[in-house]
Amino acid sequence: MELCDHSAAELGRKLRSKEISAKEIAGSVLKRIEEKDKQYNAFITLTDELALKQAEEVDKKISQNENLSPLAGIPVAIKDNICTKGIATTCGSKILEGYIPPYSSTAVQNLIDDGALIIGKTNLDQFGMGSSTENSHFGPTKNPHNPEYVPGGSSGGSATAVALGESVLAIGTDTGGSVRMPAAFCGVVGMKPTYGRISRYGVVAYASSLDQVGGFGRNVGDTALVLDSICSYDKNDSTSANLPKPNFYPSLKPDLKNLKIGLPKEYFVEGIDTRIKEKILAAVKLLEENGAEVHEVFLPHTKYAISTYYLIATAEASSNLARFDGVRFGYRAKEDVTDLTTMYEKTRSEGFGKEVIRRIMLGSYVLSAGYYDAYYLKAQKVRALIQHDLESAFEKVDCIITPVTPTLPFKIGEKNEDPLQMYLEDIFTVSLNLAGLPGISLNCGYVNEFPVGFQIIGKAFDETTILNTAYAYEQLHSNNK
Ligand code: GLN
Repeated sequence: MELCDHSAAELGRKLRSKEISAKEIAGSVLKRIEEKDKQYNAFITLTDELALKQAEEVDKKISQNENLSPLAGIPVAIKDNICTKGIATTCGSKILEGYIPPYSSTAVQNLIDDGALIIGKTNLDQFGMGSSTENSHFGPTKNPHNPEYVPGGSSGGSATAVALGESVLAIGTDTGGSVRMPAAFCGVVGMKPTYGRISRYGVVAYASSLDQVGGFGRNVGDTALVLDSICSYDKNDSTSANLPKPNFYPSLKPDLKNLKIGLPKEYFVEGIDTRIKEKILAAVKLLEENGAEVHEVFLPHTKYAISTYYLIATAEASSNLARFDGVRFGYRAKEDVTDLTTMYEKTRSEGFGKEVIRRIMLGSYVLSAGYYDAYYLKAQKVRALIQHDLESAFEKVDCIITPVTPTLPFKIGEKNEDPLQMYLEDIFTVSLNLAGLPGISLNCGYVNEFPVGFQIIGKAFDETTILNTAYAYEQLHSNNK
């Protein structure tokens, strides 16, 4: 086992006892990237020099016996739609070619302040739009368990990097499942906290009322560690929740006593692969046998979640992406540009990928006069019903368990030409974003070589219950193997 395969918590202990140095940790991760990333394509940009410089600083602090934060010396990979000062941020798109942010997002700044080693920027579906990491200008990322398959998306680069040991931790964004879904497809843990927990300042906006940053680790403890660093109140984000910094990691307890788990019937019916269903129900049984109570809950508006999400997300995207016009950021078309309008048209049609263009068109349509009431306003009303379903369920239970995806990882190219099939992959993840609730995705076994994930949803700002439940499950599951 190389250093890059150890957990963040373990590496932290070894660092503090001076058994290893931060430079050795960085070296181990960079070596793994060198060995694997040509094939898997998890990274768009590597920041090896920065990581080594940061490692040196951590080692210096250790030699002077200075106090270190838990993330000091731990490699973290950053999804490439999160701004990093002085480091290219592409959003996986040609349209941001050459863009170097003049500032870092608050989430990244928190990691830097905590002494984490920034390893590089990871691949994604352009602007976070997709469920497979195939919609990237820089080519698809490959599933770490079988490179002919997708790693899920849109944070597929971050999930793959963590699964392969190309990083120990990673962060991503989750607008409709983009942290939880690739975590499930890659067999790692991914968590999106409550909307407002993590500042969106410096996160390139896709759909602002849904976007939230999340963290990846190879176990629950590591995921809690990265969240402890990136969750913070930020006056630069008007939707940031004014709460004290959490202590998720130190307060983890594998406690299932009196825990009421809700199981929504609607999430286990049509369309779900029965092999996934069996694994998840076995996980629920294990929790039940160890002290949790299981209750049926009803989320009757689930069948409208995908349509509601894709109306609201595309509407917000069409407005957010209007700023990419060839004037202020990145790429500008030069050939055959005769006037300003042609410059805009050519820049946007050459710079954005096909899926991004599809969504801008759909979003502009649902916001246009005459269709606004029929689609956008209606979707907002259904969003309230979906939120209400979850609120009512949480009057009876402490958390809700569901699948993450209806299918196992699919082959690269298999769904790319059929956007509706691709959108259906998000059926179990989007409701949380519509309601702003926290959710964690973790592994509950394998079908052939492919990992199966399940999702635990919590009440707003009650990340602790879902982390503790996940932590308890992780221990039971590893004892049961
Ligand atoms: N797959 C969803 C979409 O394409 C979710 C993406 C995300 O969470 N960024 O919109």
